[in-house]
Amino acid sequence: MAKKPNILIVYTGGTIGMIKDYKTNALKAFDFSQIISKIPELEQLNCTIQSISFDEPMDSSNMNTKHYKQIASTIEDNYTKFDGFVVLTGSDTMSYISSTISFMFENLQKPIIFTGSQLPIGDLRTDAKENLITSIEIACAQENQKPIISEVCLYFEYKLYRANRTSKINAEQFEAFSSLNYPPLAESGVHLNFNRHFIKAASSKKLVVRKNLVNDVVILKLFPGITKKTVQSILNIENLKGVVLETYGAGNAPNEKWFLNLLKKAIDNHIKIVNVTQCEGGSVVQGHYETSVILKKIGVISGKDITTESAIAKLMYLLNKNLSKKDFTFYFEKSLRGEISPA
Ligand code: ASP
Repeated sequence: MAKKPNILIVYTGGTIGMIKDYKTNALKAFDFSQIISKIPELEQLNCTIQSISFDEPMDSSNMNTKHYKQIASTIEDNYTKFDGFVVLTGSDTMSYISSTISFMFENLQKPIIFTGSQLPIGDLRTDAKENLITSIEIACAQENQKPIISEVCLYFEYKLYRANRTSKINAEQFEAFSSLNYPPLAESGVHLNFNRHFIKAASSKKLVVRKNLVNDVVILKLFPGITKKTVQSILNIENLKGVVLETYGAGNAPNEKWFLNLLKKAIDNHIKIVNVTQCEGGSVVQGHYETSVILKKIGVISGKDITTESAIAKLMYLLNKNLSKKDFTFYFEKSLRGEISPA
């Protein structure tokens, strides 16, 4: 008989980990060491489950690269002992966290599934149980004793997404995430259906975990009327290394001289500027309109159809590598973890 998959839950905090104290009616952090006894449904799953919690469960708005490293180290330290990982975080910054983790893990062969919920696990109408149970099921899913998923994903409200393709789009509805530029990898209905065609194949190489991230980066979102003073002060931030420039439509920006001169000066000062569209779906195509021809000429890197969350993660990851300008552009414009669609 095939061995039951071993799943590790890494609990960091967020709404999912709250439970109602029915005496006081207050929400309090849930003790994940007691997870099986609190959610008896988990016993029906064909796997063994263990969990590790952050000492102080936190709201994901308080998480930064230090916590990303903590998540990465926990998975790395337990990588050989478990068949799959479910990471519970708050949903607010889950797309940022999970996108970054996707870059940190090179040559992944096992599933890392991020999930959370809009309502606490103790709430009557909670979405937490379904999100958690199905995420564990996905992390356990195997074929020929090999995991079906071997990439970093985000599961929420019946859909499994490639994590680095997602954005949080709703603070109210259970369907809180979107992935407009890449289809779901699985959908949960009566059956759990995997969209095999879109799932990344497992790597045959040895896992490499890259924990050094550079966070001297910024997101500069354009809006009509943005002033020279604003752009100038952002591009002159001390020690700035990378900028996600959120442009309009297919990557368009004003072609006013002052603006282009500021970008050019920053690029000449070795700051990497990546063009990402403000649109939820679609792609940057530098050169498609007159308003983006010059961006390409001065050395702005095309983010193509990457999300802002993934672009900031990729900058943090690639900036650590001391790449030449040419190589940096090459690697940024190329898909490393499925975050960019092929041309
Ligand atoms: N503020 C919470 C967090 O991101 C929201 C959630 O968990 O959904 O930690």
